[in-house]
Amino acid sequence: MEFFAEESCGQCFPCRRGTATLLDGVHKLAAHQCSLTYLKELEALGACMQKACKCGLGQSAPNAFLDIVQHHRDEILRSR
Ligand code: SF4
Repeated sequence: MEFFAEESCGQCFPCRRGTATLLDGVHKLAAHQCSLTYLKELEALGACMQKACKCGLGQSAPNAFLDIVQHHRDEILRSR
């Protein structure tokens, strides 16, 4: 997420704001400070970015995050 946040050109809002917000979410997950509500908001944001971002960078930026949440949801929620 640091890569995508750094490489976002800032032209469209979903990517410019979304990459920064997902990066913040990753930090919160790593610090075990992510509530279930916030996790759901991040997933919705990622799904929105896949559709609303203007180019492939923004559209693919949430993919790894969404895959990790999808496949490791139980571990993530247990570690809160
Ligand atoms: S999606 Fe593409 S055009 Fe939009 S801010 Fe990101 S890098 Fe720029």
